[in-house]
Amino acid sequence: MAVRHPLNASRVIELGRSGGLDRSEWQDKAACKGPNHAIFFPPSRLERRIDKRRREARAKEICEQCPVLRQCRDYALNIGEQHGIWGGLTAKERKELVLAANTGA
Ligand code: SF4
Repeated sequence: MAVRHPLNASRVIELGRSGGLDRSEWQDKAACKGPNHAIFFPPSRLERRIDKRRREARAKEICEQCPVLRQCRDYALNIGEQHGIWGGLTAKERKELVLAANTGA
């Protein structure tokens, strides 16, 4: 399904596809590589709301410094990634961006 890109209305993205963005082209430069990677996804055990907020805030701080934030965000939006922080956005934030872009909200 094609929708307008939430951050660039002149661009159309294909949800559910890679959109030609090859993850291997940018993932080697990802600031989240290594031991910090776990904080980008919820733990397997129950997570308190305050712990979730702190974990997501820490992950977003790393994203802010990441040289491939744009590629990562585009990738997650294009494939419709449902889990974790990608490109400085939670799954809920990505969903809201796509919805807003498509409804003009
Ligand atoms: S933007 Fe964030 S999630 Fe994406 S590669 Fe960079 S650090 Fe990892």
